[in-house]
Amino acid sequence: MKHPVKRSWAEPYKMKMVELLKMTSRPERIKAIKDAGYNTFLLNSKDVYIDLLTDSGTSAMSDNQWAGMMMGDEAYAGSRNFFKLEKAIQKFYGYKYIIPTHQGRGAENLLSKVMIKQGDIIPGNMYFTTTRLHQELAGGTFADVIIDEAHNANSTHPFKGNVDLKKMDALVKKYGVKRIPYLCIATNVNMAGGQPISMQNLKEIRAYTKKHGIKIIHDMTRVAENAYFIQQREKNFKNKSIRDIVFEICSYTDGATMSAKKDALVNIGGFLAVNDWDVFEEARNLVVVYEGLHTYGGLAGRDMEAMAIGIEESLSDNHIKARVGQIEYLGEKMMEYGIPIVKPIGGHGIFVDAKKFLPHLSQDEFPAQTLAAEIYVDSGVRTMERGIVSAGRKPDGKNYYPKLELVRFTVPRRVYTQAHMDVIAESTFNVYKNRKSIKGLKMVYEPKYLRFFQARFKKLK
Ligand SMILES: *Cc1c(COP(=O)(O)O)cnc(C)c1O
Repeated sequence: MKHPVKRSWAEPYKMKMVELLKMTSRPERIKAIKDAGYNTFLLNSKDVYIDLLTDSGTSAMSDNQWAGMMMGDEAYAGSRNFFKLEKAIQKFYGYKYIIPTHQGRGAENLLSKVMIKQGDIIPGNMYFTTTRLHQELAGGTFADVIIDEAHNANSTHPFKGNVDLKKMDALVKKYGVKRIPYLCIATNVNMAGGQPISMQNLKEIRAYTKKHGIKIIHDMTRVAENAYFIQQREKNFKNKSIRDIVFEICSYTDGATMSAKKDALVNIGGFLAVNDWDVFEEARNLVVVYEGLHTYGGLAGRDMEAMAIGIEESLSDNHIKARVGQIEYLGEKMMEYGIPIVKPIGGHGIFVDAKKFLPHLSQDEFPAQTLAAEIYVDSGVRTMERGIVSAGRKPDGKNYYPKLELVRFTVPRRVYTQAHMDVIAESTFNVYKNRKSIKGLKMVYEPKYLRFFQARFKKLK
């Protein structure tokens, strides 16, 4: 037998402790999802086998991070863990002034309150739920300037997170720079399926915004994953380290909001970082209203210590190769089964195209919400909806009808094994085989804000 010569990625860590999982029966799962109003967010985690709801705050910390937790300096003011975190952010990301927050949306709240005034337009490379809501609550309106390919689940563009400068320029011409406080750039765009922005595009938008005096704020929640794709796909970056690429990305922006619960490998935490002293001063003043003193921002000292260590670990080439490699493994398995997924395979999860999976359901019958519930019933794998429910309503009350109607399989960092990935793909295929008999859902409870978290549904007959 001939074997092809190859060298697989493998996890650059080994297990020191394990968490036992509960296995459930199909009747138990049918009852659980019904009780949860067919919303996977409302399931109890004790009823979940493999949890792909989110990669937010679900990473496994390293022994080093756990050791750091014991070094928490729980002083109310001026904790030494804060200074360690501040140093790590300055060293690895290059931003000057730092305010810790309890998580990403805390930073978004501060930033939006400080920088946005009534009637402003905030361009961004696709919306993110909490980001856009904070912009709207501050009186602004989000404007999508991502390239068209990002809205097309079939496009295999290598940098679907890129900004379309023509769209940006049209906004500047229409509203004038005075009404555009900043351009919001997300790295590895979550809502597009974990798709990266290229360094080339970043340079171009930096040149454009400099010319017009517009700031760039970086949603850097997934910056390390984005750096990996630049290293793999963009000319001249093959031999650059993730660390150097991340530093360069940040250098083209004026500030950042970070949910450290994602790439930075902690269970809770985030920050706002800016280079502009005036913005910093105002945000530092506001943080005491919403989060806590500016040297802890809603976090314990130990959380800041774990974040400082996690930031450095997240920038290791071996870590990110295995992280994204695991997603690629799952995605390729899905494709072998013929399951329609968003391509190219993203950095933090697999996005199944629910419109193609369940073509007999209209978008008003919530195909992605339906599919997430069906997969849970099949195997106890918990995924989530990223479609019409997540998109919510416009300020005028009408539903957004997003082009993408997806189920997100988000993989926590350093948590599951390749065998788990096999089970996930096998279960999705089982649902795929029986898809014609699947009925849609009706929404019976709709919360006012971020409805996808708490909405409830009933099965259509
Ligand atoms: C998670 C996330 C946020 C919000 O962060 P939280 O820590 O959940 O508040 C903002 N932007 C992006 C791209 C995210 O993925």
